[in-house]
Amino acid sequence: MRLQQPRTARQTAMRQRKVPIRTCVACRTKGDKKGLARVVRTPSGEIILDPTGKMPGRGAYLCPSPECLRRAVKEKRLSRALRAEVSEEAIRQLERAMGQGSKEM
Ligand SMILES: [Zn+2]
Repeated sequence: MRLQQPRTARQTAMRQRKVPIRTCVACRTKGDKKGLARVVRTPSGEIILDPTGKMPGRGAYLCPSPECLRRAVKEKRLSRALRAEVSEEAIRQLERAMGQGSKEM
């Protein structure tokens, strides 16, 4: 009697691991991690842009545009997604970070 290889199940799981699809919290546009900007609430409570997508903390995804940022803030979607208040100061910093990002690319 042959034992079934546990390998098969693992391979199937690997194949299912595609590029994660994220949704912009403002306009609901779908995109992969590279197409959307990640905003993260760090464990220390800062709300910053996460260009690497790897920072620890609670994240929310946005189109890399000031319009979507403003909209997400205005409709309280960003604070809801991050479960934290987003201060004007944090918004300004996010806008600046997004603006720089698109200019450099
Ligand atoms: Zn958007």
